[in-house]
Amino acid sequence: MELDKDIQFLKGIGPKKAQLLKKLGICRIYDLLTHFPRAYEDQSSVTAIADLVPGEKATIAGVITALQERHAARRRMSILTAMVSDGTGFLQVTWFNQKFLKPKLKPGKTLFATGKVEYAYGGQGQYAMSQMSSFEIMEDKDNIDGQLAILPVYPTTEALNQKFFRKTVRQLLDSIKCIPEVIPENIVRRYRLISRGDAFRGIHFPEDFGMVKLARRRLAFEELYLIQCGLMVLKKHTQNKKQGVRHGSNGYMVNELMASLPFSLTGDQSKAWNDICNDMELMVPMRRLVQGDVGSGKTVIAMLALVKTVENGYQGALMAPTEILARQHYEGFIKQLEPLNIKVALLSGRLTKAKREKIYEQLANHEIDIVIGTHALIQEGVSFAKLGLVVTDEQHRFGISQRAKLEKKGTMMPDVLVMTATPIPRTMTLTVYGDLDVSIIREMPPGRKPVRTFVRTPDRRELIYKFMKEEIGRGRQGYVVCPLIADNEESSLMSAEAVYDELTHGIFRDVSCGLVHGKLKQKEKEDIMQDFYEGRIRLLVATTVIEVGVNVPNASMMVIENAQQFGLAQLHQLRGRIGRGEYSSYCVLVADGRSEVAIERMQIMENTADGFVLAEEDLKLRGPGQFFGSMQHGLPDLKIADVLQDIDILLDARRAALETMENKVELDYVLPILELQYREHFQNITDT
Ligand code: ADP
Ligand code: MG
Repeated sequence: MELDKDIQFLKGIGPKKAQLLKKLGICRIYDLLTHFPRAYEDQSSVTAIADLVPGEKATIAGVITALQERHAARRRMSILTAMVSDGTGFLQVTWFNQKFLKPKLKPGKTLFATGKVEYAYGGQGQYAMSQMSSFEIMEDKDNIDGQLAILPVYPTTEALNQKFFRKTVRQLLDSIKCIPEVIPENIVRRYRLISRGDAFRGIHFPEDFGMVKLARRRLAFEELYLIQCGLMVLKKHTQNKKQGVRHGSNGYMVNELMASLPFSLTGDQSKAWNDICNDMELMVPMRRLVQGDVGSGKTVIAMLALVKTVENGYQGALMAPTEILARQHYEGFIKQLEPLNIKVALLSGRLTKAKREKIYEQLANHEIDIVIGTHALIQEGVSFAKLGLVVTDEQHRFGISQRAKLEKKGTMMPDVLVMTATPIPRTMTLTVYGDLDVSIIREMPPGRKPVRTFVRTPDRRELIYKFMKEEIGRGRQGYVVCPLIADNEESSLMSAEAVYDELTHGIFRDVSCGLVHGKLKQKEKEDIMQDFYEGRIRLLVATTVIEVGVNVPNASMMVIENAQQFGLAQLHQLRGRIGRGEYSSYCVLVADGRSEVAIERMQIMENTADGFVLAEEDLKLRGPGQFFGSMQHGLPDLKIADVLQDIDILLDARRAALETMENKVELDYVLPILELQYREHFQNITDT
């Protein structure tokens, strides 16, 4: 059976079931095979009723000795209670609203059930069970042996239950004769992996928990190894396809710019700049990621690199995630670069057709040295005379394929510099950015006043906003961030609209306020941000749309409503919007976290200003699924590997992938597998 076939080819799966499975992302037979259990239910041994412990989960087997039906709540609820005996004692088993079971639960039949043991109230027997995670009614006790097993617990939906998945996956495994290997034999042996077939059987229907562990290791290794190989192949491809650009060592322009900066670079900035110079001076195209917290000074590094390419007779492009950010960069660049006679242009999505085409023309005949813009830069009409360097800011907003599109705009393979303010723990960097070299700016420019963070309960809002008003009275500006755009019935969370309403009719009635959120049209959003930027709006009520990019040094205070709703990394990004100027800045997290985790998270925010530490904490508290999922990386989802837990496996897999890159036989083996398994993800990659 071909694993690539549509799920409908499986016995027992009709169009209707197939439709439901598709909702879970299960389209091909292979997807079902990789629909991994989220847990296991240990039914490998039966507990005697006399040995049951209340509060604990157990599996029992016994004969039904009596059945009783009652009704409650004006007969609307049916309650079936069976008395079960296994010779050591009696257990009272109850089903609510499952009338249809009545004919099956005949005295004399055997019940095999797993669930939590409770104390029985009234009736015979000391213990009871009412919330079975699974049960089976059998003719007689002899059938039980076949039932003893560790059972997989799958992610399910209302329409597709546990039983369905267990049965279907079992059937599938029984019908597959051979599950083909996808890792070179050498690697399987060297890294002591079990075979792929054993791993799939072992993960779904293990004989013991030791087998689960071996199976998981094998499958996580496979996943990480193949993704690493994909990324490494991508890197090689892009580096080999076209001639790279070799830049000369730094000359007049770069030195001039460096000298004109009102500050000297921090140690980490110098190190990153050094890495970049080394890369740019090689023929092999640069692929470098600069990671640095908000405000760590990445822009100047980008500017230096862009000037370096201009100095060498090339053009540079800087791609920003938002229009406003692009404009801010543009203004900063003009100020610094005009004296050097460098021609900088802004390719805004808002330009008239005529102006836009003028810029296209100037780019094509090299009248423009540096172009700054948003996605507008990857439009059809854009082509460069001599593109030497592409910088993308806030990379996580762009997918890999978008980056690749821009890279293709020149005749040569330009150098690529990616900047991100999202601190990503090392293991994640390896998985997500496996194709990039990394420089990290940890150190902040000197003299920066750290943002002071306070956690307050909602009953203090009045005081908080009074303080905010005083700040605004002192000439500053402020942000209020809410988790929702508009009030809705299902949620008691604060909405930006409601808070805006409350504030503009109350304490801020004589202050110019603005409201911005994702439902506004792009143009409206930008106009409001521009007004805030230029000081016409003093207080901005917003959703997380302000997370990326705007730089308003005069903003000194931020209030985040329902702060417990946000991830730590996100709170940190939000907080990074203030404290960008010379003023003392305050971030107030309004949270009524009742749970311990919520309180702990807020305290971490109060005490930590290091984005990397917060990212690690976030990852620990929220789990990699959410963290990984929120990044638009364009890579295949990890189905089994856990980037937190599986660091050792990841490092092994990476080592193995590096070995494969150096070994032609292994590489020839892996390439078609990548093509087959990760076609949609790596297509853009291998085609560039
Ligand atoms: P990022 O893009 O990393 O969030 P920016 O590049 O916008 O940060 O820099 C934040 C501010 O710090 C800018 O106003 C910039 O001029 C300033 N800055 C950058 N590097 C230094 C430095 N080495 N010393 C002092 N100020 C710096
Ligand atoms: Mg920046």
